[in-house]
Amino acid sequence: MSAHRFAVPYPRLGSVLLEEELEILAEVIKSRKSLSQGCWREAFERKFGQLVGSRHALSVTSGTVALTFAIHLLDLELNDEVIVTPQTYKATIQPLLDYQVRVRFCDIEPNSMNLDAQLVEALITNRTKAIILVHYGGLPADMDKIMKVARRHGLVVIEDCAHTLGAEYRGNCPGALADIGCFSFHSTKNITTLGEGGMLTCNRDDWAERIDRIRSNDADAIYVRESREIGGRDAPPRWVPHAGEAYTHRCSQVRYSGSNATLSEPSAAVGVVQLNRLPQLVERRQTIAARITEVLEGFPSVCLPEVPPHVRHAYHLYTFFVRPAQGGERDALVAELERQGVEMQLRYFPLHLLPEWQSQGHRLGECPVAEQLWFTEQVNLPCSPALSDNQVDHLVDVLEQALGKLSCRKLSLAKR
Ligand SMILES: *Cc1c(COP(=O)(O)O)cnc(C)c1O
Repeated sequence: MSAHRFAVPYPRLGSVLLEEELEILAEVIKSRKSLSQGCWREAFERKFGQLVGSRHALSVTSGTVALTFAIHLLDLELNDEVIVTPQTYKATIQPLLDYQVRVRFCDIEPNSMNLDAQLVEALITNRTKAIILVHYGGLPADMDKIMKVARRHGLVVIEDCAHTLGAEYRGNCPGALADIGCFSFHSTKNITTLGEGGMLTCNRDDWAERIDRIRSNDADAIYVRESREIGGRDAPPRWVPHAGEAYTHRCSQVRYSGSNATLSEPSAAVGVVQLNRLPQLVERRQTIAARITEVLEGFPSVCLPEVPPHVRHAYHLYTFFVRPAQGGERDALVAELERQGVEMQLRYFPLHLLPEWQSQGHRLGECPVAEQLWFTEQVNLPCSPALSDNQVDHLVDVLEQALGKLSCRKLSLAKR
């Protein structure tokens, strides 16, 4: 679909790339150094770890890869159980399809779309290993409650932070609120490393070491230094790469064969520039969000997400709810917004109802709140810094008109 069919197209860019990114790319290319490894990746990871408040930050080629690696760290065994949110992008839990484990979908809160902490404990059994959650749309989940339950039962908690860079929870950053954080730098996300990229954060040294191996073609295995060398030679030949390891190490228990998933130098350099600009990018999202909120507050059929005072919302998505009980008609509103030039995309179809999860026995009715919100109530509006002032003006005008029109119709119907 071409961009100009809509006055406000759905943002393909969640961040904005400026002159500075072009300059850093020129610098990296002109340096004639390796584009595959060097100082930029290190700089990006150091900066990212400091920002998030995590001991380790390991860059990878996508958020999906970060999640795949994070789930690998759980060392899941046959019949283990994992508690997950149904309301997220499918990549959050997709890697679990590769394991013979039982996935338990935990329903969400009606006012935040985040995992409902009150429902978690009832799903825990003696086989439960982990909880995988998302901070939906950039709004941090109720981590105090979730971590309390998780710690009591010794569960690992993975935070999918793909929407959340720039958010805060009691002054701390998502990605450092639990055990493992997974970030995405896809084009649509809060910052981007040239279209694709991701980051895994954690505090445990042994996990960081395992991830560092499997992102760069080493196996996740136990390597032990051997004093005796193959063939009894004194020193391995200098011109054979990795000969040192081969000649002097023994390896056992290969748990993962390894991959090549490191971020390139140009991507990492752009990441550094984008991180520097993060405060402005999030501020712009918050400004747009405030304008939308101002309009929505005037309509009783609309319910806004609850943003607790101890939370800073990153507004990756602007989400609100149209309550049918108060006369709201979600589908009519979405159709009217599209007619008026706002390209609409609703996120996300409840995961337990995707065919791959239904084939594992998951069914409609399993997460009633997630289902009701998706099928009748939730609306997502574009909220990206890539929107121009004119586009934001158009968006709020059209929103006010559409809601006015639909509310009027409801009132006149009621009068008859
Ligand atoms: C985008 C996204 C991912 C996947 O990240 P990629 O970098 O696109 O692989 C995972 N989870 C959520 C919630 C996302 O929005």
